Amino acid sequence: MAALLEVEGVTGGYVSSRAVIEDISFHIQEREIVALIGLNGAGKSTIIKHILGLLEPREGEIRIAGKTFSGSPETYRHTFGYIPESPIYYDELTLWEHLELAAMSYGLDKKVFAERVQPLLKEFRMEEARDRFPRQFSKGMRQKLMIMMALMVQPSLYIVDEPILGLDPLGIRTLLTWLERCKEQGAGILMSTHILATAEKYCDRFIILHKGRIKAQGTLDELRRITGMPNHSLDDI
Ligand code: ATP
Repeated sequence: MAALLEVEGVTGGYVSSRAVIEDISFHIQEREIVALIGLNGAGKSTIIKHILGLLEPREGEIRIAGKTFSGSPETYRHTFGYIPESPIYYDELTLWEHLELAAMSYGLDKKVFAERVQPLLKEFRMEEARDRFPRQFSKGMRQKLMIMMALMVQPSLYIVDEPILGLDPLGIRTLLTWLERCKEQGAGILMSTHILATAEKYCDRFIILHKGRIKAQGTLDELRRITGMPNHSLDDI
């Protein structure tokens, strides 16, 4: 069976700029959380923009569940869940209406929506905010809305861009617990992050980016072997 996500030899970047990412290859399978790690400017968000279809690869190919998509991102946006680094929301919709909109656009029926939405609101402590507008929220509350919208849909593949920044410790724990649950139920998750201790604790494999290229990838043990640093943490590698 095809991997949930296959990125094969992708070179790409922004219109009229030099290539920002070069020869990027990796895959995401069912039941794994994979961390995309690198310094500021390493190219993490650029890789994610190629997966989302916002940028076209100059070389190489991206497949989701074995299919290559091209053209408008809208044509395949619903094949995965996306948690963005910067919240995207509508000024005129309440939190509840955002959740309804996500449910509708992913084709969830009312019964499934009702079953899934309550535990999310409760666990992310957002019940009291359900009729408020995200423009009145704190940064962390907006981030929680993005997270709830993605988790509610229960896709088989999640693309998660820096999900932890802006969340309080309880919010971080709740998110990571949910992602682990999704993984146990069969989902694959690509998570870009700077927080190495969290990556080490929750992720099964790591892709280390340096200046737009993959420096190394594998499990922690494999990375330790590759770099000749037995017993070291991700921080040292
Ligand atoms: P961070 O950890 O700071 O979020 P990142 O690893 O996500 O960094 P990217 O945002 O992918 O890094 O940036 C990779 C490179 O692409 C950087 O050199 C950056 O200047 C460049 N870049 C990012 N956005 C654009 C853009 N819109 N146009 C041209 N170059 C860009």
